[in-house]
Amino acid sequence: MRLERDVSLAPLTTLRLGGKAARVAVVERESDVPEALAEAERAGVEAFVLGGGSNVVIADEGVDALVVRIASRGVDVERRDGMARVTLAAGEPWDAFVESAVAEGFSGVECLAGIPGLVGATPIQNVGAYGQEVKDTIASVRAYDREARAFVDLTPADCAFGYRASRLKSTSRYVVVRVTFELPVKDASAPLRYAELTRALGVAEGETAPLARVRETVVALRRSKGMVLDDADPESVSAGSFFVNPVVDDAGLARVVEGAGGVEVPRHAAGEGRWKVPAAWLIERAGFARGFAAGHVHVSKRHALALVNDGQGTTRELLALARDIQRGVERRFGVVLTPEPVMVGCAI
Ligand SMILES: Cc1cc2nc3c(=O)[nH]c(=O)nc-3n(C[C@H](O)[C@H](O)[C@H](O)COP(=O)(O)OP(=O)(O)OC[C@H]3O[C@@H](n4cnc5c(N)ncnc54)[C@H](O)[C@@H]3O)c2cc1C
Repeated sequence: MRLERDVSLAPLTTLRLGGKAARVAVVERESDVPEALAEAERAGVEAFVLGGGSNVVIADEGVDALVVRIASRGVDVERRDGMARVTLAAGEPWDAFVESAVAEGFSGVECLAGIPGLVGATPIQNVGAYGQEVKDTIASVRAYDREARAFVDLTPADCAFGYRASRLKSTSRYVVVRVTFELPVKDASAPLRYAELTRALGVAEGETAPLARVRETVVALRRSKGMVLDDADPESVSAGSFFVNPVVDDAGLARVVEGAGGVEVPRHAAGEGRWKVPAAWLIERAGFARGFAAGHVHVSKRHALALVNDGQGTTRELLALARDIQRGVERRFGVVLTPEPVMVGCAI
């Protein structure tokens, strides 16, 4: 384990925000994890796990915790009975895995192309996009259990995956060290269900398409919204979607329709009497148009769900804008938006 001192965290996040950590333990091997946690105990501070920093908001004051920075690498592929069983170390970059899976003809993660961050974080919030979620293909998660002080293998049922949620997100008990995916070997995507994607591909909902075409189309769609990290694209300095899409019941939906002045509200069925409403739609109609700026942070010019740092911003400014949006949406539609990124040393 490598211990670094007085480390600026902003460059380790995609928002480029946040102060310093007094101690960062760089974890390159699984056995480094208990050692890093023991170091935090010795120092009498909490331990915070950092992957690629693409779903965190870190306080300007920095964190009073030992940051466990995941940097383990390694990929193992086993092919059997038309399936590929791919086990990746937590520190493998997610998008590189998707690219190689598509090149190998492993189906099931192609719609998740272009998402930043590391493999170990994907089960935390059950990463998803364009109709696919990692829960569809995760076979098991190996993690260090801080309560039991032992490595454990978690089944998908143990992880209790939900929409941008899992048991792993609601507790700091587990440090993910490895994830195993089971992917059918075939040059066709899983059935495509996301209307924007099927339209772009020119296929009907429920049909499949060649893996490489799906991946390229997803990346192009994401790029058009500033949702692919790119040093040349200032609109990509964000944490992706800042709020999750709210799920409301019939009464909640009626309240949204009323707030919208009776116009048609976009929605997706989310179970019996439950509706998922696009947060971006609510945000724009609550008066926060794309490009709406407050100091050095703004609502993305290409997607109302992302909040962007223009390079001079602070976490304080970002959270103030997020709070204004939250209040504006609640006032108009009666819906309280929940932030998607994890707040570290700060709160919305
Ligand atoms: C431009 C952009 C687009 C995005 N698009 C999407 C999208 O389409 N869909 C989507 O779901 N997300 C999206 N995201 C969010 C983000 O990329 C994912 O949530 C990603 O999985 C986070 O990975 P990370 O390694 O950066 O995690 P981090 O941001 O470093 O950490 C996120 C959380 O996971 C915890 N964590 C990280 N690694 C581990 C580990 N090994 N063990 C235990 N806990 C851990 C951290 O403690 C923290 O609580 C986007 C982000 C950006 C910037």
